[in-house]
Amino acid sequence: MWKELEEVARKVAGKRVLLQVPEGLKTEVERMVEVLERHGAEVFVDVDPTYGACDVRMNEARSVGADVIVHVGHAPMLDLSNVYYVEWRKEANIPKILEVISSLAEQKKVCFATTVNFRWTVDEVRKIPNVVVGKGSWRIRYPGVVLGCDTTSCNVEADVNVFLGDGHFHPMAIWVNTRRPTYVVTPQGDMVEVNYERVLRRRLALIGALEGKRVGIIVSSKVGQNRRDLALYLARLARERGYTPHLYVSDYIDPLYLLGLPDDFYVYTGCPRVPIDDAERYEKPLLTPEEFLYKLGLLKDLYIGWTTAAQLRGTGESDR
Ligand code: SF4
Repeated sequence: MWKELEEVARKVAGKRVLLQVPEGLKTEVERMVEVLERHGAEVFVDVDPTYGACDVRMNEARSVGADVIVHVGHAPMLDLSNVYYVEWRKEANIPKILEVISSLAEQKKVCFATTVNFRWTVDEVRKIPNVVVGKGSWRIRYPGVVLGCDTTSCNVEADVNVFLGDGHFHPMAIWVNTRRPTYVVTPQGDMVEVNYERVLRRRLALIGALEGKRVGIIVSSKVGQNRRDLALYLARLARERGYTPHLYVSDYIDPLYLLGLPDDFYVYTGCPRVPIDDAERYEKPLLTPEEFLYKLGLLKDLYIGWTTAAQLRGTGESDR
């Protein structure tokens, strides 16, 4: 937080900085700039939305001649030189949270997960008997942390999941990927059970009703969302199955950008939140890669994740 930002400010003293801040922290921007400027940095604030640790604005940094990027609010994910991540702790009522999770853990084995802003709670919660936390894939920096596109830290044996945090996308991904009863604990310590059966049914209905053979496969040019190889792989699979694929690339995606294009439906290989959260905004169906694989009969069940071409090819190579 402020202490970490001070430390980074010392490292970037005298440099030109591109400062990236997620929407929820923009009210703190003035103070952040002051901290950096106090150490002699020259600061440009990137006002584009910053979606996650995957969204590092390299082009904007180049366009203003920034020497470094200071990316606030997320844990490091990408191995990029000259990028400093500053995590941001959010407060939570830990006594109340421990109380509600303990009472659930008396009956059930609990898998606990949260976002990076609350990762400081993990060490406290995992002390409760019958609570487990998972490590997750290489994209997950800390045990017990999940991303909207990566809930691999929940791949542990448990009866129920408990997610601490705000919003619905993370618990939805946890529920879809584990199909276990899932509870959300708010930072204030209120707990409710959530169930995303309806969302899942809606997605399955969308896939089932797809018509037409022209498919637009969209790559995100965001540095940590770029799955170009996956898009090429999906295009090949599509072609083999009688579809006509078209490949597109875009940084930000908006329904307006697709107007006039010839496709019957789209597959978005950037952040999976876009096709699921923004489904209503798109005139034509927009699928996640996993949903398209399901449509092609190559997946038995839907999940929300970060499938790569290397995974599909069954090789361990890294790809984009
Ligand atoms: S791809 Fe989407 S869900 Fe995954 S880290 Fe980036 S913003 Fe979050």
